[in-house]
Amino acid sequence: VIGLRFSDIEVAAANAAWAVLEGGVTRDSAIQAAEAATRVAEEAMAQVRQDAGIDAELKRIACAQGCSSCCHQVVAVTVAEAERIARFIAALPQPDRQAFHQRAKAAWAKGSGLDPAGWWQARIPCAALDPDGGCIIHPVRGLACRGYNSLDAEWCRQSLAGSAQAAPVMTAQLRIHAHAQMGLAKALARAGIHQPMGALAATLAALADQDK
Ligand code: SF4
Repeated sequence: VIGLRFSDIEVAAANAAWAVLEGGVTRDSAIQAAEAATRVAEEAMAQVRQDAGIDAELKRIACAQGCSSCCHQVVAVTVAEAERIARFIAALPQPDRQAFHQRAKAAWAKGSGLDPAGWWQARIPCAALDPDGGCIIHPVRGLACRGYNSLDAEWCRQSLAGSAQAAPVMTAQLRIHAHAQMGLAKALARAGIHQPMGALAATLAALADQDK
């Protein structure tokens, strides 16, 4: 990536998140920290578009509404991103929330204890996937999801079906978001959070348990 090091993105995200968290970790500050780290990733993507001229590659992104093969894998999420997602879900209409919670419990019941390869082989859909293949938390999805786009949807379908290896993702986008998430996790750890990162599916199942 021209003029932009991934380690710089990690530091920038950590600093942006820490600027919010140093006053104390609350639900609000955690959400603001997640938003700040996301902005860093978005700004880095904008800079890469300008400096490295990857628009042609971005136009080749094959992801579209209803295509959701990649949403059957283990996804990492920080506690700050989880708070952002939790607040969004809490504001959903009750029937949508209930359906989501049922999916979250079913996914965790099937997949807890599986390693990432086993989860993928079991083809367990993310609880945030609605029946039409859309992401119901799309506006607040975490950095791992924001960084993941494929250049070949058929390859993704074959991979989920078990006949192909890893999907051809856009590496720069993936790494920018991964480093921003790592920066956010570091800021959370600095603020005293012992386990700043976990699995999205576990988070969603815990939310389902809390919302009696
Ligand atoms: S949160 Fe949304 S984008 Fe991420 S894996 Fe789940 S359904 Fe897919």
